[in-house]
Amino acid sequence: MNSEKKLMTGLDLLEKIQHDFLGLDTCYKNVSGETTRRVYLDSTASSLMFRPAASIMKDFMEHYSNTHSKMHHSAHISTAAYKWAHARILSFVGADPEIYTCFFTGSGTTGGINRMARVFRDLDPARTQAIISIMEHHSNDLPHRKHMQEVVHVPVEGLDENKMCISLPKLEEALIAGNGKVNYVSITAVSNVTGIINPIHDIAKLAHKYGARIMVDGAQSVAHLPTKMHHPEDPDSCIDALVFSGHKTYTPGSPGVVIARKADLLAIEPEEVGGGMVGRVLEDRYIVKEEFPDREEAGTPNIPGAIALAATIEVLDRIGMKTLAEAEDLIIVAAMKMLAHIPELIIYGGTDIESCPRAASISFNVRGIDHGLVAAILNDHFNIAVRNQCFCAHPYVKEMMEDDLAKDFGPIDFGNMSDEFMRKAGMVRASFGLYSTLEDVTLLEHALRTIIQDIDSLSSDYAINDENDYVHNTYHPNHDHIFSVVGALDNYLAG
Ligand code: PMP
Repeated sequence: MNSEKKLMTGLDLLEKIQHDFLGLDTCYKNVSGETTRRVYLDSTASSLMFRPAASIMKDFMEHYSNTHSKMHHSAHISTAAYKWAHARILSFVGADPEIYTCFFTGSGTTGGINRMARVFRDLDPARTQAIISIMEHHSNDLPHRKHMQEVVHVPVEGLDENKMCISLPKLEEALIAGNGKVNYVSITAVSNVTGIINPIHDIAKLAHKYGARIMVDGAQSVAHLPTKMHHPEDPDSCIDALVFSGHKTYTPGSPGVVIARKADLLAIEPEEVGGGMVGRVLEDRYIVKEEFPDREEAGTPNIPGAIALAATIEVLDRIGMKTLAEAEDLIIVAAMKMLAHIPELIIYGGTDIESCPRAASISFNVRGIDHGLVAAILNDHFNIAVRNQCFCAHPYVKEMMEDDLAKDFGPIDFGNMSDEFMRKAGMVRASFGLYSTLEDVTLLEHALRTIIQDIDSLSSDYAINDENDYVHNTYHPNHDHIFSVVGALDNYLAG
């Protein structure tokens, strides 16, 4: 009875806020001079701003003050709100505040992964290896290459079924082969290319079985799926560090987030030093604070961004991430069904959502048409915003495209690529957020079918520019006229 009531409340709230985002009504003039609504299918790059979070941030600014100040009213208000933001995020991911802390990093997920790679390295210098998968974003690959002595890339499995998710047997092989040298495993919870969901808690158990830590890149998961430090039914499956980005969690302008074990962080000197994280500073030494998050947050943090993010998270949690994931699943299932029915499309990763669950992203190509041309036509003619190219995940994209590319280009040297090759070596990604609708999916279908049918006449209007991008011969909207900082400022000052 109670849970039924709660579910209804979550659904009601979802319905109420689903369209309360800045930028859903943004319109641009298309190639034929018609002004239409932008269909935003690029949420995996950055999601749109949740309006209540923007409003809270604005309200908070009336009380803004540095949290390192102490005695005035605004300092009390800022400090309490900032403290609440940390606690709110910890409870959102089911992290016990006795065991875990949450701290904000300057940039998004990238900053947090770099930081935790160095922390794990310094915690156990004898273990010199990191294991990642080939489906990682560069931000969950290059930090390990830079900070660790050795990085092992575990392959994806199910090539025959086109599944493209991490191979657990291969991961276990790598852990065994590491022979006690594996310091940590770092894996994405959800691919930013295919949207494929990895079993992070099974991976955590496996890592722990071989004495390795586990870091999870939650950049594409936290806003779309329940993402918990523990599997509710299996306490052994705990994650040692979870990292995600506020700008992918409906709060652009907010920082990156790290949730990590206090014991790990206490065992070494903090990676970053400066004001706020020290107790006493003498000329010849300084005493680092033991309290969290202060210890890990040197300098003045992005206070309004963190508060706005926690406000968004408060609402997501009130809706319930399970409810939210189910609602988003309807869109992904509809989009996959629609795309899979267009025979001219190649869809990357398994298309059966039951056996190969996905969140937020689907990447594809239209046979015989370059990814850049499809993305340009979608924008110019249909006002549909998608991302194309390799999505900062070159090894994964290569794995999925290599055979097709080899047919046209012969043996491929990915280190030495021609412009023509680059125009083929990439994909188009449609990605969704909690504001995406079935109408968006239908508009994408209509656009793709039109492109396929009319490609000869549509492509004749395009040329390739110096940057190897497709540009329309006559449609050159002046983006400065649509928005420029100085223009907006002039309007404000004149008003
Ligand atoms: N990991 C994944 C899976 C991502 O999708 C991204 C961003 N596209 C990142 C890491 C890096 O995130 P940020 O740019 O916020 O640092």
